[in-house]
Amino acid sequence: MNFLENSEQAADYLRQAVPTMVKYNIVPNPLNYTLWYSYYSKAFPLLNKELDETIQRYGTCPPSSSQSLFLEHIERLDGDNKEQLASFQKSLSNVMGTLSESIDLTSQQTTSYSEALKSNLLELDEQGITETVAPVLDKLNQNANAICNANEEFQGKLQAAQAEIDFLKQELENSRKEAKTDPLTGLYNRRMLESIYNQFVTENVNDDLSLVIMDIDKFKLFNDTHGHLLGDQILKFVGQLLQKECKEAITPIRFGGEEFALLCPNYDLKQAQEFAETVRVKLSSVLFHNKRTGESIPPVTASFGVATKQKADLLTQVIDRADKALYAAKNAGRNQVKASFDV
Ligand code: GH3
Ligand code: MG
Ligand code: MG
Repeated sequence: MNFLENSEQAADYLRQAVPTMVKYNIVPNPLNYTLWYSYYSKAFPLLNKELDETIQRYGTCPPSSSQSLFLEHIERLDGDNKEQLASFQKSLSNVMGTLSESIDLTSQQTTSYSEALKSNLLELDEQGITETVAPVLDKLNQNANAICNANEEFQGKLQAAQAEIDFLKQELENSRKEAKTDPLTGLYNRRMLESIYNQFVTENVNDDLSLVIMDIDKFKLFNDTHGHLLGDQILKFVGQLLQKECKEAITPIRFGGEEFALLCPNYDLKQAQEFAETVRVKLSSVLFHNKRTGESIPPVTASFGVATKQKADLLTQVIDRADKALYAAKNAGRNQVKASFDV
């Protein structure tokens, strides 16, 4: 589904669509907007033919017909094709943006049109009219009032629909963000690690790329001693520390539980190992304080495993080597960094 019009064209289509929707008593929701917008943009000729037939048959377009016309002509989603769904969401979100801008303009214009009509009639009235013309003008006046009322009512509905559009856009934005980030720390999640890795290796086949996996030491004991809530605060703190320390293109990721990953583009094994060492030292030098009980909490430490990508490595192969190095760091006494050549 593509809407490539500029905003002037888009507003023009909407100005045509709105009176038609009022006329046929169509509910102003995003789906119907899109349907009638598409009708006036003539983007889908078959849609226009079927919509004309539906209006002719029912005197309106019932919600079930709107939905099936929309799905059949505007968005043919096949199965659960994710890419298509994503592009559909993007297009819908674009058209919603254009529509909500245009709604304001349309509302203003219909109001001033109705008001002009009313004041013309009043002027005629003041100029004195013959008895025969008076009833006709009365009728016209009534009609003008009816149009004004219908406009006002429709504008109320438009405002409600606009609020709905804004809400949907926000929802869309939130769900996009949620799909990428971990809610506790705000860091990217494991899925993003895969996507950043794959993008980097596609674009920079021969460049260095290293991975650090970091696991907090004895964190179960920490939770048991200080409570899970304070444990969560520590994870948040670690997330912030990583965000601060990860300069250049290094991306920190919440790998899962009390494990984090640091993806280091253009870092060879030794450079990544040095970077991990600076993070280790920083973390192990922070004293915490339990505000509730007043007690001091000794520094939290972590163990680190570092590996680097070899030629055609998949991410899982790099993770596997970093994990082995991490395991060695744990075995050697924790609070230390091991690289894959150490194991
Ligand atoms: P090791 O040094 O061998 O890594 O010991 P460990 O206790 O850190 O490792 P283990 O795998 O035995 O336990 C991990 C702990 O991390 C247990 C789990 O409750 C805690 N944990 C995982 N995710 C969270 C979380 O989101 N919040 C809190 N508070 N704790 C978590
Ligand atoms: Mg662990
Ligand atoms: Mg651990």
